[in-house]
Amino acid sequence: MTVTGAIWREQLTTEQRALLGRGAGEIIDSRPDILVVGGGMLGVATAAAVHDAGLGTVQLIEAGRLGSGATGGATGLLIPEPHQWSDPETFIDLERASLERWRYLDQVTPGGLGLVELDWIGLAPDPTGQAARLPSHIRWLTAAQVAALVPGLAWRLGGTLIRHQARLNPLRALAGLAEGLPAIGTAVAALAATVRGERIETVITSAGRIHPGVVVFATGQPPVLDGLHLDVPSDRVKGHLLVTDPAPVLLPCTVAPVATPLEDGRLLAGGTFDYGDESPQVREEVIELIMASLRAALPGARRLGVSHQWCCFRPRHPDGRPVIDRVPGIGNAWLTSGHFRTGILNAPATGLAIARWISAGRPPPEAGAWSATRFARSR
Ligand SMILES: Cc1cc2nc3c(=O)[nH]c(=O)nc-3n(C[C@H](O)[C@H](O)[C@H](O)COP(=O)(O)OP(=O)(O)OC[C@H]3O[C@@H](n4cnc5c(N)ncnc54)[C@H](O)[C@@H]3O)c2cc1C
Repeated sequence: MTVTGAIWREQLTTEQRALLGRGAGEIIDSRPDILVVGGGMLGVATAAAVHDAGLGTVQLIEAGRLGSGATGGATGLLIPEPHQWSDPETFIDLERASLERWRYLDQVTPGGLGLVELDWIGLAPDPTGQAARLPSHIRWLTAAQVAALVPGLAWRLGGTLIRHQARLNPLRALAGLAEGLPAIGTAVAALAATVRGERIETVITSAGRIHPGVVVFATGQPPVLDGLHLDVPSDRVKGHLLVTDPAPVLLPCTVAPVATPLEDGRLLAGGTFDYGDESPQVREEVIELIMASLRAALPGARRLGVSHQWCCFRPRHPDGRPVIDRVPGIGNAWLTSGHFRTGILNAPATGLAIARWISAGRPPPEAGAWSATRFARSR
């Protein structure tokens, strides 16, 4: 039987599951120094960073349960290095710093965050001679070397081998970070804001009014609130994922674009970009296509069943890069949104950048490229 829903929740303990619904129905702090709106990876990581930096009292609010947006459906790969063929250097720097921060948080969080170290092989033909120009930390594998490392693979392809990447169960990491936060209110939605001069004075929520010193919006896409005009274009891109039953063929590491092995021999595959599909439903034909590709690559897996299938939406700005910025025209509010394909990876470095900015009153260098106004300039 196939479960429609991400596998991540099932891998949690009862305590971790309870953490995702923390504070529902409880009284929230109506005068926090810092209010974080949004309980996905960006909101929770930012709340953790400002709390750890000792910037005052922190209240996080989330309309549903923690991780109920894109975060709960993500693959959970933390792989900066493969992005060097698609992303600018400033972005890779953010990603690398964030992976280091994940490793640090995994070590210092009681019980850890479940980070799994992982190598990555990207299968590719080499028509342009890329193999000769690879940086020293990336190794080119011939088709014979790939075949030796991935014995069940039907495709005769070479590829790049990148060591020391990572992955995690996004909900487990979210629960671990949330446990260290003093004040979380789930099932609390921000509905409106009152702005006086250059300050947000009040955030009106489904649980009453909050008068914050500072507000950080981490709502996936920019928030839609009465009284707060934000001209930051964004959309969302659906993706499907599936997890198989325990597989007879073992993958040694992530083999892109085939699959990522999970602990108990299951394979995690997919991560489609279903542009224009706004339906929240899983489409069986997309799941079939993912399985057909998996079976073609790994004939030993041809009888494998699908144990979990799901879809979710990546928040995106027009250039596919995030916003990490002060809200234009507002002195006491920040926005981080549109993290698209890499929000799980980039959450800790983003949270740290916002904490540094709030603390110092000026943007840290790592936030410079991700302004909220760059789209207005290019229109
Ligand atoms: C198929 C797929 C695979 C992916 N794989 C990876 C991957 O391997 N690695 C990676 O790094 N990234 C991956 N991503 C991207 C990643 O999931 C996102 O970039 C990231 O989760 C965005 O986090 P977020 O906190 O900004 O948004 P979300 O997780 O969507 O959280 C925003 C939260 O804000 C809440 N909210 C919104 N408005 C309000 C309001 N007014 N009041 C209160 N709460 C509000 C929402 O309920 C939501 O919970 C993947 C995404 C998809 C779809």
